[in-house]
Amino acid sequence: MKLSTDGLIIKESHYGEHDRIVTILTRDRGVLRAFAHGARSLKSKNGSATSLLCYSRFVLSKTKDTYRVDEAEAQELFFALRGDVEAFAIAQFFCELCLCFAPTEAPAEAVLRLVLNSLSFLASHRRPPAFLKAVTEFRMLTLAGYMPDLVACSGCGTYEADVMYFDPLEGVLFCPDCKPTQERLLPLSRDVLAAMRHITFSDFAKLYQFQLSDDGLRALARVTETYLLTQSEHRFSTLEFYHSICPEEST
Ligand SMILES: [Zn+2]
Repeated sequence: MKLSTDGLIIKESHYGEHDRIVTILTRDRGVLRAFAHGARSLKSKNGSATSLLCYSRFVLSKTKDTYRVDEAEAQELFFALRGDVEAFAIAQFFCELCLCFAPTEAPAEAVLRLVLNSLSFLASHRRPPAFLKAVTEFRMLTLAGYMPDLVACSGCGTYEADVMYFDPLEGVLFCPDCKPTQERLLPLSRDVLAAMRHITFSDFAKLYQFQLSDDGLRALARVTETYLLTQSEHRFSTLEFYHSICPEEST
């Protein structure tokens, strides 16, 4: 069976002397693993198109449960990311998010569009890396069925207050009057809550169109990452690496 689709290489590993096994976030089939025969040989025309973080058009063939890359044509290599350690670390984290949350054997249009746009902003430096990380991880959770309930206080329906509280385990909001005494609750200023609502509810076309102060961005990043780690119960090695090289972003 032949399959023509486009996708982003989110993982690559060497196999034998000249071959490569790639994991691709495809538009039509979500995350799949494919064998790229000869992709590492100098003569291969599929070489760069099957490299990590390359967005390519693919012709794949499937035999039983195994995909093979028959053709790969690079569309966007995101080369600029490779010269920037922080941006490259975040790009790898986006790949791990896809491995964890993107659909398999099902269309993944929305996740692919999110990651490609974030990588494009990251490569062009049009948004701060911490902003893109927060937007991407929080929107990814929303797409994957972990949408928090940010409409109003879950106790009384209050829409906003100078400080509201977010429960990263239950994914709900509390106002100061209804707040239970749990240590895990995260205080949210008005601008951080507005940003969280924007990331969760906005049309994709407007997703990246909001502003936050540096302090607000740091607070947003803390909340979105805590929500990610609480909900997924997963250790992201790429995230740990990112914090090891950018410790100021983790405070
Ligand atoms: Zn309340």
